[in-house]
Amino acid sequence: MPAPRIAIFGLHLEANAFAPPTVEEDFRALCWAEGEEITKGAREVSKLPSELPGFYERMDETGDWEPVPLIMVAAPPGGPIEAPLFARIKDRMEEMLRAALPVDAIYVASHGASAVDGLEDSDGTLVALAREIVGPDIPIVVSHDLHCNISEKLTDAADALLAYRTNPHVDMRQIASESADVLRAMLGGQKVASAFIRLPLVPPSVTLLTARGPYARMIRRAEEVMQRDDIANVSITGGFAQSDLSKCGMTVNVTTWGDQALADQVCTDLAQELWDDRGSYVTNMMELEDAVSLALSSEKPVIFADVADNPGGGGRGNTTYVLRAFHEAKVPDCAFGVLVDPALAGEMHEKGVGTTFKAVFNREPGLYSDTFEAEAEILCLTDGNDIGRRGTLAGRKFDLGDAGLLRLTDSGLLVVVGSLRRQLLEPRMLEMHGIDIAKLHCVVVKSRGHFRAGFDEFFPPEQTFEVDVPGLVSANFSRLDFKHLPRPVVPLDPETVWTPGVK
Ligand SMILES: [Zn+2]
Repeated sequence: MPAPRIAIFGLHLEANAFAPPTVEEDFRALCWAEGEEITKGAREVSKLPSELPGFYERMDETGDWEPVPLIMVAAPPGGPIEAPLFARIKDRMEEMLRAALPVDAIYVASHGASAVDGLEDSDGTLVALAREIVGPDIPIVVSHDLHCNISEKLTDAADALLAYRTNPHVDMRQIASESADVLRAMLGGQKVASAFIRLPLVPPSVTLLTARGPYARMIRRAEEVMQRDDIANVSITGGFAQSDLSKCGMTVNVTTWGDQALADQVCTDLAQELWDDRGSYVTNMMELEDAVSLALSSEKPVIFADVADNPGGGGRGNTTYVLRAFHEAKVPDCAFGVLVDPALAGEMHEKGVGTTFKAVFNREPGLYSDTFEAEAEILCLTDGNDIGRRGTLAGRKFDLGDAGLLRLTDSGLLVVVGSLRRQLLEPRMLEMHGIDIAKLHCVVVKSRGHFRAGFDEFFPPEQTFEVDVPGLVSANFSRLDFKHLPRPVVPLDPETVWTPGVK
């Protein structure tokens, strides 16, 4: 039998409806790979999503195959994609897939929470188009981030959908590897059956950790059920509420080895369990003034997350609420990062290490991003490029753009300034600027939850706090003006009624 030809494509964007549009530059600066470039990147250290090396490795281990890489694009979380840009990505995928025919299967490695200006279901559109091109009999397996918003169009077009089971995300390679196993089984003639239920439940991301709490309990349940020989996969997705789409909501996806009734039953049971526990998805954020007091009084080192300005959810990484308060309170031995300010980073690179000057953050003020000025010394400058060592970015390249470290004169605060919108989830982002994290008393990160997997060696969960300040990706939903979420929906409408029913 000739080696099976597997087409591969994917789109990674977590769309935040409240953030400015995502443009081609955003993809080009992170990942835009076509054809053989994808195969090359998947087999070395690259900026490709981690699913790619995971998928290639498992396919290589399990027999002959011929990769047919099409297009893989990834942008940092941001607003919906500009419509003409999405049309180009879609057309390119279509053109390359048609030119590659025949293929024996397709693997789609997408984030699953993308959206386009004027089109809410970009992910479903791409998978449905692939299905239309290859016909009903070619296996299509899709993997998603657990922060995805899944449409019926997508689940109808795909044979199986697998989602991450860790948040912070550290299992991208694992899920891609499991996707490869499902594809291999299907190539061997194995049938699959799947069921999908979406619940009117859109919890804030900070309540969706998988080490503890209600979502962790559901993930453990999914893993338990996956032990059965007749179940191929169970994926329980958390969704991404700030996408503000009618398809937002937590979902249960069950794939069995061909038994539809079993898929329906397991899916319904898990959805009911999830729904029964809906009241547990509550945030536990700290007021800013309490965070300042704790930073000053805690005997143990503490880390604070400015979750509302997390670039990993579409934030700009430039709000200064926490910075200003900690500066005024002169919190000792404290580092901040990454403050995204290309103009300031550029000025730092012009002035050079050792210069003391008046640092102006947000010289062009914007929504949530007031101007903030402080005298500061430039301690270190970098080009922002390094390789992650722990957690979500371990072994992957990252790029902060032109970056550097400031020490604010009055307070002693250490502030890492960068030029590209990246969340501080990786210890190297501080260490590359000469910071010894073990010697700090306090760290403030622009991140929602992924920093936990990078910084847990310094800050256990009980020394980790989320601060409730304004921002584009606030976990305090009363701060956001949702327009398209399905209503009624929990937690906005606590009295929402749901009755089981498989789609
Ligand atoms: Zn995610």
